[in-house]
Amino acid sequence: MKQRPNVLTEDDIRTSDAIWQKYSLDERYRFSTHSLLSSALEIWQDAPVTLLREHYCCHPKIINFCNQKFYHGQLIVMTKDHQKCTKGRMIMPKIIRNAIRCKKCGDVIESKTVHDFKFCSCGSCAVDGGHDYLRRCGNREDWEELSEVEKVEDNGALV
Ligand SMILES: [Zn+2]
Repeated sequence: MKQRPNVLTEDDIRTSDAIWQKYSLDERYRFSTHSLLSSALEIWQDAPVTLLREHYCCHPKIINFCNQKFYHGQLIVMTKDHQKCTKGRMIMPKIIRNAIRCKKCGDVIESKTVHDFKFCSCGSCAVDGGHDYLRRCGNREDWEELSEVEKVEDNGALV
Protein backbone atom coordinates (compact mmCIF):
# COMPACT_ATOMS: atom_id res chain seq x y z
CA MET A 1 0.00 0.00 0.00
CA LYS A 2 1.06 3.51 -0.57
CA GLN A 3 -0.17 6.53 1.25
CA ARG A 4 0.75 10.15 0.85
CA PRO A 5 2.46 11.58 3.95
CA ASN A 6 0.16 13.31 6.37
CA VAL A 7 -0.02 17.06 5.99
CA LEU A 8 -0.10 18.87 9.29
CA THR A 9 -0.45 22.44 10.39
CA GLU A 10 2.33 24.06 12.43
CA ASP A 11 0.05 23.79 15.44
CA ASP A 12 -0.52 20.07 14.98
CA ILE A 13 3.20 19.50 14.65
CA ARG A 14 3.96 21.46 17.82
CA THR A 15 1.20 19.75 19.82
CA SER A 16 1.96 16.25 18.65
CA ASP A 17 5.72 16.64 19.02
CA ALA A 18 5.21 17.89 22.59
CA ILE A 19 3.25 14.73 23.43
CA TRP A 20 5.77 12.57 21.58
CA GLN A 21 8.68 14.12 23.59
CA LYS A 22 6.84 14.05 26.88
CA TYR A 23 6.42 10.26 26.70
CA SER A 24 9.84 9.62 25.09
CA LEU A 25 8.29 7.63 22.30
CA ASP A 26 10.17 5.99 19.47
CA GLU A 27 10.62 7.87 16.22
CA ARG A 28 8.27 5.40 14.55
CA TYR A 29 5.40 6.64 16.73
CA ARG A 30 6.03 10.26 15.86
CA PHE A 31 2.81 11.60 14.42
CA SER A 32 4.41 14.64 12.79
CA THR A 33 6.60 12.50 10.54
CA HIS A 34 4.52 9.36 10.16
CA SER A 35 1.24 8.26 8.76
CA LEU A 36 -0.51 5.30 10.36
CA LEU A 37 0.76 3.17 7.50
CA SER A 38 4.39 4.27 7.73
CA SER A 39 4.33 3.69 11.52
CA ALA A 40 2.89 0.22 11.03
CA LEU A 41 5.52 -0.61 8.41
CA GLU A 42 8.34 0.42 10.71
CA ILE A 43 6.91 -1.62 13.56
CA TRP A 44 6.15 -4.77 11.58
CA GLN A 45 9.04 -4.70 9.15
CA ASP A 46 8.38 -8.12 7.67
CA ALA A 47 4.70 -7.40 7.07
CA PRO A 48 3.77 -8.12 3.47
CA VAL A 49 3.29 -4.93 1.50
CA THR A 50 0.90 -4.82 -1.41
CA LEU A 51 0.30 -1.92 -3.72
CA LEU A 52 -3.41 -1.60 -4.46
CA ARG A 53 -2.89 -1.08 -8.13
CA GLU A 54 -6.39 -0.83 -9.46
CA HIS A 55 -7.62 2.71 -9.33
CA TYR A 56 -11.35 3.36 -9.53
CA CYS A 57 -12.12 6.93 -8.57
CA CYS A 58 -10.29 9.67 -10.50
CA HIS A 59 -10.60 10.71 -14.11
CA PRO A 60 -7.85 8.96 -16.11
CA LYS A 61 -6.15 12.23 -16.98
CA ILE A 62 -5.88 13.13 -13.30
CA ILE A 63 -4.81 9.76 -11.98
CA ASN A 64 -2.38 9.25 -14.83
CA PHE A 65 -0.52 12.33 -13.71
CA CYS A 66 -0.21 10.90 -10.17
CA ASN A 67 0.57 7.50 -11.60
CA GLN A 68 3.60 8.85 -13.46
CA LYS A 69 4.68 11.28 -10.76
CA PHE A 70 4.26 9.17 -7.60
CA TYR A 71 3.54 5.55 -8.49
CA HIS A 72 6.13 4.94 -11.22
CA GLY A 73 3.34 3.91 -13.57
CA GLN A 74 2.36 0.97 -11.39
CA LEU A 75 -1.33 1.85 -11.12
CA ILE A 76 -3.91 0.25 -13.35
CA VAL A 77 -6.41 2.97 -14.17
CA MET A 78 -9.92 1.47 -14.21
CA THR A 79 -11.86 4.66 -14.90
CA LYS A 80 -12.77 5.79 -18.38
CA ASP A 81 -12.18 8.99 -20.22
CA HIS A 82 -15.58 9.98 -21.58
CA GLN A 83 -14.17 12.53 -23.95
CA LYS A 84 -14.97 10.94 -27.26
CA CYS A 85 -12.50 10.11 -29.94
CA THR A 86 -14.07 12.51 -32.36
CA LYS A 87 -13.61 14.51 -35.46
CA GLY A 88 -16.19 17.23 -35.22
CA ARG A 89 -18.96 15.48 -33.31
CA MET A 90 -18.71 12.13 -35.01
CA ILE A 91 -17.19 9.05 -33.50
CA MET A 92 -14.67 7.72 -35.97
CA PRO A 93 -14.94 3.95 -36.07
CA LYS A 94 -11.96 2.01 -37.22
CA ILE A 95 -12.48 0.50 -40.65
CA ILE A 96 -11.32 -3.10 -40.84
CA ARG A 97 -12.63 -3.93 -44.29
CA ASN A 98 -13.94 -1.60 -46.98
CA ALA A 99 -15.80 -3.83 -49.43
CA ILE A 100 -19.06 -4.36 -51.28
CA ARG A 101 -20.56 -7.02 -53.53
CA CYS A 102 -22.11 -5.89 -56.79
CA LYS A 103 -25.57 -7.41 -57.11
CA LYS A 104 -25.42 -7.17 -60.89
CA CYS A 105 -22.15 -8.93 -61.64
CA GLY A 106 -21.52 -10.57 -58.29
CA ASP A 107 -18.02 -9.10 -57.96
CA VAL A 108 -16.68 -8.45 -54.50
CA ILE A 109 -14.56 -5.33 -54.65
CA GLU A 110 -12.44 -4.09 -51.79
CA SER A 111 -10.56 -0.83 -51.33
CA LYS A 112 -7.41 -1.59 -49.39
CA THR A 113 -5.71 1.78 -49.27
CA VAL A 114 -7.01 5.34 -49.19
CA HIS A 115 -6.63 5.92 -52.95
CA ASP A 116 -7.52 2.37 -53.95
CA PHE A 117 -10.53 3.13 -56.15
CA LYS A 118 -12.09 -0.03 -57.58
CA PHE A 119 -14.94 -0.67 -59.97
CA CYS A 120 -16.71 -3.97 -60.30
CA SER A 121 -16.44 -5.69 -63.67
CA CYS A 122 -19.86 -4.47 -64.87
CA GLY A 123 -19.12 -0.91 -63.83
CA SER A 124 -22.27 -0.44 -61.71
CA CYS A 125 -20.51 0.39 -58.48
CA ALA A 126 -17.15 1.25 -56.99
CA VAL A 127 -15.39 1.49 -53.64
CA ASP A 128 -12.73 3.89 -52.43
CA GLY A 129 -11.17 5.19 -49.24
CA GLY A 130 -9.35 2.13 -47.95
CA HIS A 131 -9.36 2.10 -44.15
CA ASP A 132 -9.78 5.86 -43.90
CA TYR A 133 -13.33 6.37 -45.15
CA LEU A 134 -16.06 4.41 -46.93
CA ARG A 135 -16.69 5.93 -50.33
CA ARG A 136 -19.22 4.37 -52.71
CA CYS A 137 -20.16 5.09 -56.33
CA GLY A 138 -23.28 3.83 -58.06
CA ASN A 139 -26.83 3.21 -56.94
CA ARG A 140 -27.24 2.09 -53.35
CA GLU A 141 -29.55 -0.78 -54.39
CA ASP A 142 -26.90 -2.22 -56.72
CA TRP A 143 -24.55 -3.43 -54.03
CA GLU A 144 -24.47 -5.36 -50.79
CA GLU A 145 -22.39 -3.84 -48.05
CA LEU A 146 -19.58 -6.10 -46.79
CA SER A 147 -17.61 -3.57 -44.80
CA GLU A 148 -16.55 -4.25 -41.26
CA VAL A 149 -15.92 -1.56 -38.73
CA GLU A 150 -14.73 -1.89 -35.19
CA LYS A 151 -16.91 -0.18 -32.61
CA VAL A 152 -15.16 2.53 -30.70
CA GLU A 153 -16.09 2.96 -27.07
CA ASP A 154 -16.48 6.28 -25.29
CA ASN A 155 -12.90 6.33 -24.11
CA GLY A 156 -11.56 5.61 -27.58
CA ALA A 157 -10.80 2.00 -26.73
CA LEU A 158 -11.80 -0.62 -29.20
CA VAL A 159 -14.46 -3.07 -28.06
ZN1 LIG B 1 -20.96 -5.06 -61.02
